[in-house]
Amino acid sequence: MNGVRAVTVAPGVADSLRLDDDWPEPAAEEGAILVQAVAVGVCGTDQEIIAGEYGEAPPGQERLVLGHESLGRVLEDPSGTLQPGDLVAGIVRHPDPVPCPNCAVGEWDMCRNGRYTEHGIKGLPGFARDRWRVQPRFAVRLDPALAPVGMLLEPTSVVAKAWDHIERIGSRAVWQPQSVLVTGAGPIGLLAALLGIQRGLSVHVLDRNTTGPKPELVRALGATYHTSTVAELDFAPDVVVECTGAPVVVMDAMTKAGTNGIVCLTGVSSGGRTIDFDAGALNRELVLENNVVFGSVNANRRHWELAAEALARADQAWLSSLITRRVPVASYADAYTSGGTDIKVVLDFEQ
Ligand SMILES: [Zn+2]
Repeated sequence: MNGVRAVTVAPGVADSLRLDDDWPEPAAEEGAILVQAVAVGVCGTDQEIIAGEYGEAPPGQERLVLGHESLGRVLEDPSGTLQPGDLVAGIVRHPDPVPCPNCAVGEWDMCRNGRYTEHGIKGLPGFARDRWRVQPRFAVRLDPALAPVGMLLEPTSVVAKAWDHIERIGSRAVWQPQSVLVTGAGPIGLLAALLGIQRGLSVHVLDRNTTGPKPELVRALGATYHTSTVAELDFAPDVVVECTGAPVVVMDAMTKAGTNGIVCLTGVSSGGRTIDFDAGALNRELVLENNVVFGSVNANRRHWELAAEALARADQAWLSSLITRRVPVASYADAYTSGGTDIKVVLDFEQ
């Protein structure tokens, strides 16, 4: 083994994306478990890093290895936690060094001081390289059947946290939710819908697209697809999982939720756009209906494990159809250019 291929950027420098052919082997300090990469998923955060808007190289380094939606196979694990050949994903976020009270108990998704680090995003090398290492506490084993789709674990961990917190908030009183509205049928929205279906709820997914794979993917799940506005829907959902970040959709979602409704915001708005909206009417709705609106980001180990269980229970063909393109590493740049009807694009290290 003499160097690995790695997809890297110089954070803060737009269009500095390149494939390094001779990147150093993962350092021993990265963790005891040595992993051969299978694939990484690509998402909007990668695009922002490539555009130079986001991202931070590890201390003392100029370039950052991309990739936070990981999947690999264990080559060696002297700690005995995993076996060679096991399918594994690496948890993205590591606790801050202080640590804050949340990070101190493993709730790094709720970090208070913002000094956490994240693989492929903030201060830690990513997983878009032939081999990487991970500490046992940040390694999540996947069911062997998930080999073609296991890179969906990271986005699934995000929705597993969202659902976990929705249920924790719901337990404030007797709560028997029936209907869920998911706004946005991207990977996060579709996976949020999957977890809603797995809970036996009546799931509605709203998206602008009338063509492409989204309508059929939603129907195949047993959910209902809507292309109207949120305001036009003829029901008041018990739960809303907002995945667009589009200001009008967010505002409509907050007022559409039913009595005792819970609205979980997962989409990040770009800001700077103002819309007309009646703040007094929103306040009135929230108070008089006991509604809760909350934000949710990232996930801790418990959520990653819940996500691994959810994926193992899901229809594997349906999960596979979320992956609309599998790009070989040699054509890496193609993985980062968005196709019109793509849902999830993955960079394939085995092709
Ligand atoms: Zn913290």
